[in-house]
Amino acid sequence: MAKYSGPVCRLCRREDVKLFLKGDRCYTDKCGYERRAYAPGQHGQARRRKISNYGSQLREKQKLKRMYGLAERQFRGYYHKANRMKGVAGENLLQLLERRLDNVVYRLGFASDHAEARQLVRHGHFVVNGKKVNVPSFLCSANDSVAVKETSRKVTRILENLGAVERRGVPKWLQLDKDGFQGKLATLPAREDLTMPIREQLVVELYSK
Ligand code: SF4
Repeated sequence: MAKYSGPVCRLCRREDVKLFLKGDRCYTDKCGYERRAYAPGQHGQARRRKISNYGSQLREKQKLKRMYGLAERQFRGYYHKANRMKGVAGENLLQLLERRLDNVVYRLGFASDHAEARQLVRHGHFVVNGKKVNVPSFLCSANDSVAVKETSRKVTRILENLGAVERRGVPKWLQLDKDGFQGKLATLPAREDLTMPIREQLVVELYSK
């Protein structure tokens, strides 16, 4: 399916949760979901119909997919990978998504949302363990260091994002050295480190049918 290029606030309203797709705006009272917390479209304000089991599984999958800005095929690939790993498939899935380089760049505060993180990575602004990596789906491991390339430390967007990092906070599985323009995966994220409102088991149920 083609990549969604419409208004992203609509996606939050559809999923009935803040997906944080629009950078700093998500933290202000201009947030589309805060202003109109009902589904988009002509019948958005009508009473919500009771949702079926399949419906809840589908919504949960869409929510997670949209949160990380992934296409269906790529997302499904993560599910299969998670399923082959040891442990709980749902937790493995979340961990794989969190380990993506674009997500680490976003969580460390170098980018204001996933879309910007992906673009900054693609433009070659980051090094992992000292080597340039411009693949957003690159999977980071525990103890990897992710740094802004020496020549990219004056990029305005990165500087602005770092300036606002306190407001957003950095998850505890990551360590940020703001002045050194670098961060490190202190450990891989555990389920309790991931605070987004996701019922990953429903996603697993959907795909395992
Ligand atoms: Fe979602 Fe951010 Fe738009 Fe709010 S501002 S509706 S959190 S994308």
